[in-house]
Amino acid sequence: MAFLIERNKILLYDTHIQNGHVSYEYIKKALDSDHKYLGLQIDPLKMEEPLCKACVKGKISRAPIRKERISNRAVNFGDILHMDLWGPSLVHAPGGLQYTFTILDEATGWLHEPKMRTKDEAFGRFVAWQSQCFTQNGIHIKMVHSDHGGEFLSKDFTNFLEKEGIV
Ligand SMILES: [Zn+2]
Repeated sequence: MAFLIERNKILLYDTHIQNGHVSYEYIKKALDSDHKYLGLQIDPLKMEEPLCKACVKGKISRAPIRKERISNRAVNFGDILHMDLWGPSLVHAPGGLQYTFTILDEATGWLHEPKMRTKDEAFGRFVAWQSQCFTQNGIHIKMVHSDHGGEFLSKDFTNFLEKEGIV
């Protein structure tokens, strides 16, 4: 019977698709202790957050959190990313992941939110995100915006942005 229960568990990604492309973060926040969302049981071991191609193409009309826009130029995914850093959190997260690095795509409202142990992991997380966007979806990140430049943008980070031609 345990086998059958396992088979009925679904992926976080499937839940995203089956619920009108609601964001991963929304689903995760709505999960109760049984890992159920709208009656669907989501396997805690299958919480990968692949970039959704439909969302990237902006074919799905969603209602992202509207931040104040800094320009009208963000038309495509990757045109302008807004980065911010949150933490340290008061609640001790598993594995000491006390910082959250938010990368919000202005054009689509897509939110990528890696958790980190220290602020200086932001550089590696950004490089990984940039690689994933390009390799999986051919997306070029063109501009990044942050109010906390000196706080977490290391010299390695800014050098990398310059090398990649990212403003
Ligand atoms: Zn989607």
